[in-house]
Amino acid sequence: MRVLIALGGNAMTTTDGRARPGDQIAAVTVAMEPVADLVAAGYDVVLTHGNGPQVGNLLVKNELAASVVPPVPLDWCGAQTQGTIGFIVVNALERALAARGVRRRVAAVVTRTLVDAGDPGFARPTKPIGRYLPRDEAAVLVDHGETWEDRGERGWRRVVASPEPLEVLDAPAAAALLAAGFVVVANGGGGIPVVRSADGSIRGVEAVIDKDLGAALLGRALGAETLVIATDVDGAVLGYGTPEARQLDTVDVATLRGYAAEGHFASGSMGPKVEAACRFVERGGRRAVITSLTRIADAVRDHAGTTVLPADITREVAGHA
Ligand code: ADP
Ligand code: MG
Repeated sequence: MRVLIALGGNAMTTTDGRARPGDQIAAVTVAMEPVADLVAAGYDVVLTHGNGPQVGNLLVKNELAASVVPPVPLDWCGAQTQGTIGFIVVNALERALAARGVRRRVAAVVTRTLVDAGDPGFARPTKPIGRYLPRDEAAVLVDHGETWEDRGERGWRRVVASPEPLEVLDAPAAAALLAAGFVVVANGGGGIPVVRSADGSIRGVEAVIDKDLGAALLGRALGAETLVIATDVDGAVLGYGTPEARQLDTVDVATLRGYAAEGHFASGSMGPKVEAACRFVERGGRRAVITSLTRIADAVRDHAGTTVLPADITREVAGHA
């Protein structure tokens, strides 16, 4: 059985979000334990991961060093973080597999994901990234063509396009590695955003792709049956942060979409996870699970967090209950 596991920020940083190299290696090492258990148990595993804190760090370097070394665009930041995070995941997973006596190779693929140059996100950027800056420092970057927004007390923040991912262009490379027996890390940070020009050539664009929406797309491209979105909460919660908070257990897509329409899932965090889970099962996936990092193996082997099923299967389960 093929499983796609999407690792959130807490798989790669400390609980307070720090991302020193040692912190990242330590967090990934912990995260790879249940992953190695699944590989050892015979699951065909594909990993993807977020890159928000890592891209944030690169952006600060860009700003501080701009007068000395040329700043690099966001697609380059995406490619660089796929490289570094992929590198530490490969190291950590190979080590965890070796400790279990499992001889499997692990490879990370630099992965491009196609977006539409006409995506509304480019005209009206909404995704906040990087650090807060005082107004005068933000103004310099606005002069360089960046979009920054006044976020009140904390200062100004850059906003960029977060276009819809349309196609994981390097999914065939990931598929070939899987077929050759590799455990594969791919589409980190939702994929490097690229557009296709009229002549068919591909070029990177200044944008970020949502990691969870990218994961849903990759999962279907690779024929994964299960998508696990591993984060820092146990599942999707109705009335999150209210006294009536209730975590969803097993839910069908239509019901979950109804809750989403009622505004239960925050747009920058749980919202895209719920949307990704829905898309994955609507497009033929067997189930999607939103749960915490520590429960990945339970989620795959049995049950954990919030499980999203296509409507017909939910009815079947209910019928047998
Ligand atoms: P990741 O880095 O794993 O992608 P995010 O921070 O983007 O994680 O999303 C997880 C966060 O979503 C949780 O820490 C929680 O604070 C927030 N959240 C917002 N709405 C909900 C909800 N309805 N149920 C559960 N968590 C929610
Ligand atoms: Mg996060």
